[in-house]
Parts: sequence; structure tokens; C-alpha cells
Amino acid sequence: MADPTGVDFEVTLQTLNYATRLLAAELDTGQLIDRALDVLADFARGQRVALLRLDEDAETLEVAGQLDRYGLEDPERHIPYRGTALETVIQSRQATVFEVLRQERLPLPVTSGGEPGRECLCLPLVGSQSRLTALATVERDAGDPLSELDKQVLRVVSTLIAVSFDNARLFKLATVDGLTELYVRRFFEIRLSEELARVRRHGGTIALLMTDIDRFKLFNDTYGHQQGDRVLRDMARLLKQAVRQSIDVPCRYGGEEFVTILPATDLGGAAEVAERIRTLCEATPFGGQDQPLRVTISGGVAAIDQENMVDESELVRRADMALYQAKESGRNRICTWTGD
Ligand code: GH3
Ligand code: MG
Ligand code: MG
Repeated sequence: MADPTGVDFEVTLQTLNYATRLLAAELDTGQLIDRALDVLADFARGQRVALLRLDEDAETLEVAGQLDRYGLEDPERHIPYRGTALETVIQSRQATVFEVLRQERLPLPVTSGGEPGRECLCLPLVGSQSRLTALATVERDAGDPLSELDKQVLRVVSTLIAVSFDNARLFKLATVDGLTELYVRRFFEIRLSEELARVRRHGGTIALLMTDIDRFKLFNDTYGHQQGDRVLRDMARLLKQAVRQSIDVPCRYGGEEFVTILPATDLGGAAEVAERIRTLCEATPFGGQDQPLRVTISGGVAAIDQENMVDESELVRRADMALYQAKESGRNRICTWTGD
């Protein structure tokens, strides 16, 4: 793409436009890593690409993801950068080309003694507030040098990737509860509106499962608040694993009360899911003390379809009523809403 007026230039701009949309639309950090690696490999014409997350306190770079022609899974690795070529890039914040040494297929820059015929392009990823958050390293063919235009485009791509990561981080901060890693109540309300609108327009069913830990105040009083927090975290993980990934939406409604949106699920199906979660909780030994701890939950389920639509607050109220009934009738059970 040496000629800034030719066909190659046009293709580059189109690819850049496509990459921008691909990156900017992604809010999940894991997905974003994969997309960023693909985009970098394309624009830098690289054989191997790695994304290294900067930890300035520990003076290490953590492998966030890597891509090579074998599609290797990312090993959990922390690379000390003090005194290495990587430190030069961190300090200068300039895209730099070094020699390359491969370590477990990871392209790492070196100032001498690299592999003949290969080189390593190091790109700093600088996002909002001029924060350097990560580096990308790209192993390239030394006989295929980058043009000035290539480098300029890569600078744009690096910023784009860095800002997309910032975006994903902020989205998570705003929508995910810090203790349980479940969605926060505000996000639940937005998602519920969207799901109800879908049923209103396209039909189908939707169910809501509300669960609440039994006698949790007593649990806290007995074992302490920290132990209570640990149970909340473990319980949230259990809930997440028990529902359909990327379909159901488990959220922290408040304190020790969780609510899960179950799209395309009727009352019977939701009751089955709820009962499975309840028995799972009952059977799970929660850790943190010398003895395994036992905790139970109560649950309320409500469902609607297009013919019997109600608004968000009414559906929540029904699930809550069913939960109340479960508590009233002895706890550690699931009740379904069948009318007030
Ligand atoms: P019930 O079976 O009727 O639900 O009894 P309960 O004691 O669980 O109900 P209640 O609503 O009276 O108490 C809820 C308790 O949950 C109060 C509080 O101690 C605890 N709780 C709420 N949020 C948190 C939290 O973030 N961490 C911890 N450790 N405890 C919490
Ligand atoms: Mg409770
Ligand atoms: Mg409660």
C-alpha cells in the first residue's frame, strides 16, 4: 500500500473502516482480544501476534492473548520487562522494530541475537487519558519492510484497539457488580425492558427467577460479614454456571437477592431451572471455615407470553410474590406465580 492515491490505499481505508466497526462494537474484553489480534496480524502482515497487558507495579507484562498459525491457547505468563527491549517501547511510547526471539511461540523483541530473517514490531497501546495499558508484539518477515503509510495506519489501529479496551473496561465497571461479577440492577432493568419488547413484537415467552438466600442475616451474625461475602461470590458463580451462557441474564438485584432473566422460557421450564439451582445450592459445601458450610435459597418464578403481556414492574412483582410464598411456606423451595 505504498501509493497513497492508488487502489491499495483505497483497500487499506476500507479495511480500516471495517476494523473500526469490528473493534468499536465489541464490549466483551475476551472477544476484543481475539479481534484485536486478528486486526493487528492483518495490518502488520505478521505471522505471530501477542497482546501484553502492562502491570507497572509488578514491572511485568501479562500475556492477554496470542495468535499464530497454530492458534495456540494463551499460557498464563507474566514477563518481567525491566532492562529488555520491551521497556524501551514502554518508555518511548513509540512503535519500534527489533530483532525477534520466539518463546513458546510468543514473539518477543530482543536488541541482539534474534532469529535471522525475522523481526518484531512492538506497538504501544495508548488509550484514553493517554494511558499506556498494553503492548502488541508482531513477528514479521524482515524482508517485507513496513512503509511509512503502513506505520501511520498501524498507529491509528493501535489507538483504536486501546480505546476499545478502555470502552469495554468502562462498560464492565458500569454494568457488573464488583463483589459477585453479576450484572447490576440497573442493567437488569434495561435488559428486561428489551426482552419484554421482543416478546411484545415477536411473540414467545419470557420468565423471571428471583432467588434469595435463606436466613442470611443469621449467617452473617454467626460467621461474619466477610464469610457472607464469600458465600455471595460462590453462589453467584454457581448461578452463572447453572444457566444458559449468553442467553440467560443473571443479575444481583440487591443484597443477597439475585434475579435471572430467562428468555424464551415458559413457567414449567423456568421452574425446572429454578429447582435445579436450588438443589445445587443445597448440595454445595461452601468454603471458608474448617467445616463446609451449608446455605439454602428460596426462589420465585413468573412467566408471560405475548397474549398475556404485563410491564416490567408487574413481572418483577409476580416473581417477588412467588418468592415471598416460598419463604412463608418454609424456605429452601421454589414457588411459581399462578395468580395473586
Ligand atoms: P430470609 O430467609 O427471610 O431471607 O432471611 P434473611 O436473614 O436472609 O433476610 P433479611 O432480608 O432480613 O436479611 C438479609 C441479610 O443479607 C441482611 C444482610 O446481613 C445480608 N446481606 C445483604 N447484602 C450483603 C452483602 O453484600 N454482604 C453480606 N455479607 N451480607 C449481606
Ligand atoms: Mg434472605
Ligand atoms: Mg433478602
